[in-house]
Amino acid sequence: RAKEQGRGQTAVYTSAARAAMERRVTIAREVREGLAARQFRPGYQPRISLKTGRIAGFEALARWQHPAKGLLSPDYFGSVFAEHELSIALGEEVIRQAAADVRSWLDQGLECGLVAVNLSSADFSDPGLAVRILRMLEEAGVHPACFEVEVTETVFLGRRTATASSILNELHKAGVSIALDDFGTGFTSLTHLKQYPVDHIKIDQSFVQNLIDDRVDAAIVTAIVNLGHAMGLHTTAEGVETIEQAERLRKAGCDFAQGRLYAEPRSGAEVPRIIRSWSSDRRTSMG
Ligand code: C2E
Ligand code: MG
Ligand code: MG
Ligand code: MG
Repeated sequence: RAKEQGRGQTAVYTSAARAAMERRVTIAREVREGLAARQFRPGYQPRISLKTGRIAGFEALARWQHPAKGLLSPDYFGSVFAEHELSIALGEEVIRQAAADVRSWLDQGLECGLVAVNLSSADFSDPGLAVRILRMLEEAGVHPACFEVEVTETVFLGRRTATASSILNELHKAGVSIALDDFGTGFTSLTHLKQYPVDHIKIDQSFVQNLIDDRVDAAIVTAIVNLGHAMGLHTTAEGVETIEQAERLRKAGCDFAQGRLYAEPRSGAEVPRIIRSWSSDRRTSMG
């Protein structure tokens, strides 16, 4: 009986794995079509200074305005970030549009702060990544110092670490800021902070979620903030959803917060209104 059950489970597992694989293939095909039809655009989520309550920047997150399914987030299409060709094409679409948006905000006299884009480890399979990004920024007429790239530590693993290192150094030398995303999850080795030109640590939302009730999570957040400060890095907490969390983070010395408490990601067309209304009602309750 046990044997039969075991065999049954294997069969279930195999068909589930096959279904997942087929789904990835289908999504990749759909994303290719969506890119060709120019249905992707960045959604911008503000990053707020916990010291001043002001907007310090925005993170550009890929969004898909799907003709039938509506506005989709990476929950639906995120599997493509693992595929070199598609991740590169989608990343390029997001960066190009973000650069053009920044140019237009600056032209309107708006202060958008640092605008961040995400890079996946698949993007680093292109040794010309830095040159390509810098060229897109130049074509849009925005200074590299207006931009930040967010990478996770998976970029520092595997065979291409030398390429990743030189790409990040190239971007950093040109003035692009480097953020370590989802910090504290995965393979966090503190030597990464020493070996790569990191300016900014983004504390993963999983630690923020239970910050109030879980003493271990609270201790981890405080330790990351202190480590960041000792190294001269900025710290941002991701996924901040409540005032209690924001207040606790501010007391712990965290520099910035990002999350639904402030705003969901919004289209580029909505950003000018966000910047204007934010500075006029001066949400300084945080500090
Ligand atoms: P991430 O860079 O860590 O982005 C943070 C995620 O948290 C975003 O999910 C954001 O919408 C979500 N979020 C924002 N506020 C809250 C909150 O208050 N609570 C919670 N629970 N979540 C919140 P999203 O937009 O679905 O993106 C998921 C991931 O997909 C991103 O994680 C990033 O790794 C990746 N991604 C997004 N756009 C791009 C892109 O253009 N290129 C690449 N390579 N990756 C991207
Ligand atoms: Mg990110
Ligand atoms: Mg993150
Ligand atoms: Mg993430």
